Amino acid sequence: MTAYHPEIEYHVDITQPDVQAKIKEATIFYQDFLIRFSRKLDFENTRSISEVYKKAQEMGIFEKAQEMRELIFGKDIHFYGVSYLWDACINHCKYCPGSVPNRKKTIESGDDYPLRELSVDQAVADTLAVMGYGHTHMCYLSGSAPGRERLPEKIVPFLERFDQLGLDEIILNIEPATEEGFRKMRGAVKDTALQFRVFQETYCRETYASMHPKGPKSDYDFRRQSQVRAIKAGFDNVGIGVLFGLHRFPLEEVESLRQHAEELENIHGKMPARVCLPSANELANIGVQIPYFLKRGVYSDGREEIIVSRDYEKFTELVYAFARLAMPTINIVSSERDGPAMLRILDRYATCTTLNVHPGVGDNAHVFPCNGHKQTHFEQATTFPRDPHKAVEDMKSRAYNPLIRV
Ligand code: SF4
Repeated sequence: MTAYHPEIEYHVDITQPDVQAKIKEATIFYQDFLIRFSRKLDFENTRSISEVYKKAQEMGIFEKAQEMRELIFGKDIHFYGVSYLWDACINHCKYCPGSVPNRKKTIESGDDYPLRELSVDQAVADTLAVMGYGHTHMCYLSGSAPGRERLPEKIVPFLERFDQLGLDEIILNIEPATEEGFRKMRGAVKDTALQFRVFQETYCRETYASMHPKGPKSDYDFRRQSQVRAIKAGFDNVGIGVLFGLHRFPLEEVESLRQHAEELENIHGKMPARVCLPSANELANIGVQIPYFLKRGVYSDGREEIIVSRDYEKFTELVYAFARLAMPTINIVSSERDGPAMLRILDRYATCTTLNVHPGVGDNAHVFPCNGHKQTHFEQATTFPRDPHKAVEDMKSRAYNPLIRV
């Protein structure tokens, strides 16, 4: 079979001189903005968000970013579905409700917090439910248990079955493996394109160390090099990302993403297929620590409309537009951590999104019935799943081209 390759998503030949000239122009916009504002946009001073947003408007950053999106990707919107395989985790990420200490705090506060894990059959059922929404690119996530060495063995039987389902792509967003571990996973997938996607969360080493005090994820370099190991092991594609809200200077994170993407392409021959830009979000669970949590605006029910924009909405639009100029030829991902109103704004810059996401283990196929007790079940962030039909019709009404058959 022909592996899915991100460059098939382009609407133009990016090697053509006129397209190259536009890319260069975007890069100049990007560099100019970076030089002027990389430390001026400062989460310690939230007033800076409105100030830098206004400057970006005056400089035409938003128009330029939208122009680049439409030049390279047209008005296409790509999609991926999500299935969580298990939530047991041995990491200590401070911002995550499922980390070892945060889960312990939840239990000590009197909440029931049972772990969930899908069998291979249940994971297939969960995948088929997501494919029922029209998805052909499936992202699988799991907690980092049982750890770096044993996780590849554990995931292989799942991969062997997913490979038989007729998907276009399997995206693994799990604890990074050694090169040997990645080879085991690669060996299990013969008929489907395989992507390894992991977020560095923050590229600032100091912030990284304070956010990940223990567990395998505390090893910054092992994570930073994981895409390279996956490429060496034969993965078709890789993805990168950050989590905004951890590091004080968010534009520096975009520049680090750009450098990471450039390094993967220039040294290792593969531009990332996807770049993800989530922000640490409102969480129903207790105990998390998000150093810079931005105030959200006021929305109508279901987040259909923004009634008042606040710091979060301005920052998020700004950072997506800025990232589009930083990486004009890379498919940027939005997700239903944002509601429909915010996603409509992000469609101007992002080119791939989730649809009808259910981030609890087994929640697509309703594998674990709710028994009515006060029970916390693991979700990394609040999400706003959209009705697939309604969302697709809404995209078409705005002249976008959603590439999904719902
Ligand atoms: S963010 Fe991921 S790795 Fe970290 S504690 Fe949560 S589930 Fe584990």
